[in-house]
Amino acid sequence: MTNEILEPGSVLGVLGGGQLGAMFACAARRMGYRVAVWDPDPDAPAHRSADESFVAPFSATATREEFARTVQGVTFEWENVPAELCEWIEGSLRVRPSGAVLRIIQDRIEQKRFLHANRLPVSTFIAIESPDQLADAVTQVGFPAVCKAATSGYDGKGQWLIRRGSDLEEVARTLRGGSGHRSRWIVERFVDFERELSVLVVRGENGECQTFPVVENLHQGGILRMTRVPAPIHQDVAGRAAELAGHAVALLNGIGVFCVELFHTSDSLFINEIAPRPHNSGHYTLDACTVSQFEQQVRVLCGLPLGEVRLVSPAAMVNLIGEDVRFVTSGQGCRDLLAMPGAMLHLYGKRIVRPGRKMGHVTFLAERRDETVERAQWLMQLLVAG
Ligand code: AMP
Repeated sequence: MTNEILEPGSVLGVLGGGQLGAMFACAARRMGYRVAVWDPDPDAPAHRSADESFVAPFSATATREEFARTVQGVTFEWENVPAELCEWIEGSLRVRPSGAVLRIIQDRIEQKRFLHANRLPVSTFIAIESPDQLADAVTQVGFPAVCKAATSGYDGKGQWLIRRGSDLEEVARTLRGGSGHRSRWIVERFVDFERELSVLVVRGENGECQTFPVVENLHQGGILRMTRVPAPIHQDVAGRAAELAGHAVALLNGIGVFCVELFHTSDSLFINEIAPRPHNSGHYTLDACTVSQFEQQVRVLCGLPLGEVRLVSPAAMVNLIGEDVRFVTSGQGCRDLLAMPGAMLHLYGKRIVRPGRKMGHVTFLAERRDETVERAQWLMQLLVAG
């Protein structure tokens, strides 16, 4: 099964129907595949780009059987889909990345333990199973610290910064008040980073590995706001970041597209986390590279050669979060944005606007890196001004 390619015309299944699933579906359809999207939410954006839609909870047994009968290979668009479902599908079909890799990554504690055990650089951390252990754990890792729910957190949700002793009681109270399934957390030393970087790694069946250029990410309120590429860092640092990311994915024996998020301090690199899928910080690849992260996801899943990765233009990407979307969809905002040279607008078609919800993004291309960032900053200022 593993060495055969899935030929165009095959049906590719994707678990999860958010914007990442939709962009995967578009890439797959462009390459002649059919796509089946499974997401419990009938309004999930990827259903609009699907040939077949499955709308049911991931626990629905009849749906999993029908899905497995429909598709010839499966991937997922985020790490919180059940690993058990992926493992079950793997009994008869290829799933990329594998359920075993997903299982390690979707639990922050397991993931950090894996990285640490393999001597990859991570911030000092301690796992806790009760809010009563928080104070001790923070004392051991040192202030400031970050406490994160072991599972299901994303975009800064389920995450608390503990700057000083007086923050402890309030965070412990919040943990006690949380829902029952959140009974494990990881407490990490806060890394005083100069920059946040990320690297997309694509690793094929035969161990062939490619990395996209290192990007710099700017977060606001735990959510990615802007990505710029190439990252404004010394070539040596970029080389080390790419090597570290590739090494981490190889140690995982990951087959698929991975995003390795890093902290760059004055003298070191630390791995923050690995996502087993295309990533928001890689959206620029749609417009600025010879192959996008989503096309690579299709290629890996289908056992095809990986696409040549080449940055054809510097780029800066700005996320459209919550109410930002109103600006770019109003007559004047839309005109101003699209009149800007090199601005590429992507809207995800989500009908309900919520604070913190990713509604779309804009990628700015220009000949010089500085110009892309100036244009991105122009947009961010307009968005803040509302
Ligand atoms: P995560 O969900 O782990 O990617 O965290 C979201 C964001 O929180 C990161 O991109 C960082 O900006 C910040 N963050 C998380 N963990 C740490 C840490 N140990 N030190 C400093 N910042 C962190």
